Amino acid sequence: MALAGRLDGLRAGFDGAGVEALVVTNLTNIRYLTGFTGSAGELLVTADAALLVTDGRYAEQAPPQVADSGTEVAIAGTDRRSLVVDRLHGSDRVGLEAGSVTWAEQRRLAGWFEGADLVPTEGLVEELRQVKDAGEVARIEAAAAIADAALADSVELLVAGVSERDLAAAIDHGIRTRGADDRAFETIVATGSNSALPHARPTDRTLGQGDLVVCDFGAVVDGYRSDMTRSFRVGGPSGGREDELRDAVREAQAAGLACVADGVPLAEVDAACRGVLAAAGLADAFIHGTGHGVGLDIHEAPALSGSATGTLRTGHVVTVEPGVYLTGLGGVRWEDTVLVTADGHRALTRAPKAD
Ligand code: ZN
Ligand code: ZN
Repeated sequence: MALAGRLDGLRAGFDGAGVEALVVTNLTNIRYLTGFTGSAGELLVTADAALLVTDGRYAEQAPPQVADSGTEVAIAGTDRRSLVVDRLHGSDRVGLEAGSVTWAEQRRLAGWFEGADLVPTEGLVEELRQVKDAGEVARIEAAAAIADAALADSVELLVAGVSERDLAAAIDHGIRTRGADDRAFETIVATGSNSALPHARPTDRTLGQGDLVVCDFGAVVDGYRSDMTRSFRVGGPSGGREDELRDAVREAQAAGLACVADGVPLAEVDAACRGVLAAAGLADAFIHGTGHGVGLDIHEAPALSGSATGTLRTGHVVTVEPGVYLTGLGGVRWEDTVLVTADGHRALTRAPKAD
């Protein structure tokens, strides 16, 4: 991964944010900028330096992890305040990440920087994280391939009598044994009326013949996540209402995916999915946004919703995941994680969507 340019990319946003330095406290953002994977630390970025302040647990781990980014490491004890303040000497306007600094931290930092203005900033690092480099794409693609294989390992359990919990455990087992660091989030397996809940948790409920089953899961490789949903009918297609729903949402997803390309408004992808479902009389059953960015976080910018204002850019990795949810009957969702390219997209999740 191209860690070396990331700090300079961040500094390029300082003027626009009205800051001379930034205190990065979001650990995912610290990881993105420096490579540091520890669970405690703050990163100070000035015009010409970057300093990661962490504690003794990371004295061995941190320096080699951050070396490629050009970040220095300081192991803090009781001198934490002086380490930070000394390094920011001369900066009058110090940015904080408004979305990750707690009230208590803000008060603590205000005490540290008595002579400076503390400036709330939003999304400076998250903006950079939207466009993935080749190393990041390779990691997401590896995670997606593991999830594809974990599902293929588990499809024999998509039969009447198996519980949601056991099917989810089989998928999780496949994700782990095929080399992922972890699951990207808690695997969703929802069947029958449970599938009408977009974020259902697996229960002891067993799959019944003819039930809808929604499986939404992903893997993590070197910090990067994948996200995919497949929807099934237990026992295979019968030509009934469950299959009509699966077809309608599959068509909606195809319409959304067909829009995905560099320069396309985010809201256009959402509108394409929604248009297909409206024509099928299912507009009111599609109760969430169409997709989201995926990377170090499972949900990150950009959001693909009707109110989104930006455009897709080459290097974005996003999901397209329309769904319908009908109380009592159940739900259907199809989701893929795709890389946005100049003239379209490349699917990173590839498990079959045919019956
Ligand atoms: Zn998902
Ligand atoms: Zn998703």
